[in-house]
Amino acid sequence: MLPIYAEVILPIPLPNLLTYAVPDNMATACRVGCRVEVPMGKSKHYSGIVAALVDTPPQGFEIKEVIDIIDTTPVVNDIHLKFWQWMADYYMCTIGEVYRAALPSVMKMIEDTYKPKTEKFLSLHQSFTKEIQFKDLFNDLEHRAVKQMSVLMAFLAGSGIKIENGVITNHGEISRQKLLKNPDLSPAALGALIQKQVLVETEKEVSRIEKYEGEIELYHDLTPAQQTALDQVESLFAEKNTVLLYGITGSGKTELYIKLINKYLEQGTHVLYLLPEIVLTSQIVRRLQKVFGNTVCIYHSKLSDAERSEIWKTLYSGDSPKLVLGVRSSVFLPFNKLGLIIVDEEHETSYKQFDPAPRYNARDCAIVLAQMYGAKVLLGSATPSLESFFNAKSGKYGLVELTKRFSEQGQPQYLIVDTLEAAKRRQMKSLFSPQLLGEVKNCIEGNEQTLLFRNRRGFSPYVECQSCGWIPVCENCDVSLTYHKRDGRLVCHHCGYCMEMPTKCLACGDTALKTVGFGTEKIEDEIKLYFPNARISRLDSDVTTSRSRYEKIIADFEDGNIDILTGTQMISKGFDFHKLRLVAILNADSMLNYPDFRAEERAYQQITQVGGRAGRSQIKGKVLIQTNNPTHPVFQDIISNNYMLLYSRLIAERSKFLYPPFARLIKIQLKHKNPQLLDHEADRLADILRKSFGPGVLGPEYPLISRIQTLYIKEITLKISRNHYGSAAKKIINDAIGYIKSTTTQAGLVTAVNVDPV
Ligand code: ADP
Ligand code: ZN
Ligand code: ZN
Repeated sequence: MLPIYAEVILPIPLPNLLTYAVPDNMATACRVGCRVEVPMGKSKHYSGIVAALVDTPPQGFEIKEVIDIIDTTPVVNDIHLKFWQWMADYYMCTIGEVYRAALPSVMKMIEDTYKPKTEKFLSLHQSFTKEIQFKDLFNDLEHRAVKQMSVLMAFLAGSGIKIENGVITNHGEISRQKLLKNPDLSPAALGALIQKQVLVETEKEVSRIEKYEGEIELYHDLTPAQQTALDQVESLFAEKNTVLLYGITGSGKTELYIKLINKYLEQGTHVLYLLPEIVLTSQIVRRLQKVFGNTVCIYHSKLSDAERSEIWKTLYSGDSPKLVLGVRSSVFLPFNKLGLIIVDEEHETSYKQFDPAPRYNARDCAIVLAQMYGAKVLLGSATPSLESFFNAKSGKYGLVELTKRFSEQGQPQYLIVDTLEAAKRRQMKSLFSPQLLGEVKNCIEGNEQTLLFRNRRGFSPYVECQSCGWIPVCENCDVSLTYHKRDGRLVCHHCGYCMEMPTKCLACGDTALKTVGFGTEKIEDEIKLYFPNARISRLDSDVTTSRSRYEKIIADFEDGNIDILTGTQMISKGFDFHKLRLVAILNADSMLNYPDFRAEERAYQQITQVGGRAGRSQIKGKVLIQTNNPTHPVFQDIISNNYMLLYSRLIAERSKFLYPPFARLIKIQLKHKNPQLLDHEADRLADILRKSFGPGVLGPEYPLISRIQTLYIKEITLKISRNHYGSAAKKIINDAIGYIKSTTTQAGLVTAVNVDPV
């Protein structure tokens, strides 16, 4: 037999794969896609993935041996290995970094510490065979052990025990946890019943994957408009791999997805349904589970590592749930036969991973992954990204439109309120215009609900001394501290640094400290003053520290136990509340006033999405926008519901100034604690890059926040025309960064490359 060598991917940022010799006794077991334990350096061991098997070793190295083979079946298939390589090349990182992002942590340890979960179950003791045996037992317990009696009754009611013609035919089974759910039942009494050999306790392996135990419903019939759209999607799939569904909020995109998913499941293929994180932790899961039951498997960041591994293992072992509902990282899951990927809310920036590498966009990766599997992709949005709409218009993707709401009430009515004017006339009541207060009052009187949206949490974005102008800023970052009134603290939203709210100015000692601007916490406080009897709540990341807390607030709003809910982006996505009539956007200008070529596009998306929560069933919805700048074209596009107008205006600008989709962007970030050194190195890098990319090199410049966590930051943005964009350009960039890093005079220079930044 020829000696075999394995090329192994390690979970560290090495530029190349490492080659190891496979000992003869492991030769048959060592397969591509399996994990192996390998040595690295003097004393480290890693769990690596076999990327290839070859019969000639590289020359000039001392080849070490594989220590052990961890898997008997591959955990990563060939398609995914190819996908990892593509991702490393495209996003300019190492395949080791992709591996690190792809597998759950326990699976990357050399000893896979994954342990199956067990639970205790109770059954009736086998010595009971006839109903009559209960008679004495009951008699006994009723008089002398009431608590044991209660536990026994609960067991009989919940365990599924069966008695036919006086004979016990099924001894029942119920988990200990479920049995003792009622807090009145005593574990000690249960212990006594086990001791007496009335019940037996056994330990069994159970799944960590949450099971759906609700009812299964048939799905809705599509309306003619929805059916036409679905037919169009399917016929476009005959010629295009990717189709964009542009369907306004409430048009029934989800209903259409359900039908399409069902078709693919019936054909026996897997379906991946991608959603942004905050949308996934909400109603949509329940909606799909109602239709697809336990075929649905959910993959998000709040899962424990063990739960993640279990999903991995069920998927690659084949006996898998077939509809994966997941966030961006689910593109790494080991699918077998992937037939369809749905990317809902495709415009969402949270599909892009910012840190650490790989800095990938799951939407774009989904399209590449689907191609590798020969699968189809449906992108859906009420506010498509300009890039996707451009691709659809130019024929790269198919385009299907759904422009009518399901509800007869149609689109919500938009109303713009000029807050500058209202302030001049002294009509503003705190943060609220008279129109806003009037509409909220109507809602409360009609037993309908209101959302108050503001894309900023906390009480006020900053605090200022009225005598000397001092503003408390973060010790580590170049930002002002946000005042959180409930906690009495000033908090940095970038690094978490916090301090107590001072009672007087730390610069001049004056007590005239004033809060400036407002966030959701202040909205909550102030609206209470005007509606003291209303039930008011808040949803932002300060209050939703746990998933259950978050779900409680959503459920309360759904059930009509909250009249007014204020919140950040968290309330804007994917929700369907039947009694929600009014959505008010406070300080809409803050969404436009920041330097980014995408600011207008984002403002349109955010306002349309949150506004789209209003009036989705029987009620006619209303959206009120408070702004100092009522004539801004983006507000006109929003109130006339004219995405096409927005698109043509913005795409013309992008074309003129060569921004995506007409050029590609790569952003290089440099960080160092010494600003002089940083300046110097950033300039050196830019100079090298200019030799190849000329005027396509923008910067270096300080970003909006120029220091985070004690490191100063500079950015260079490369604008590369579509024809020059490719592996050659990326090699130049990599080489230039490598050169700067190897010739810099101080340690600690950090660089990060972000391809297609959003
Ligand atoms: P979108 O995802 O486009 O925002 P949804 O799929 O959430 O829209 O639909 C909006 C609302 O209308 C939901 O409550 C949904 O159940 C309902 N709906 C949409 N289409 C139908 C249909 N064909 N039959 C019954 N209800 C529908
Ligand atoms: Zn002062
Ligand atoms: Zn900070």
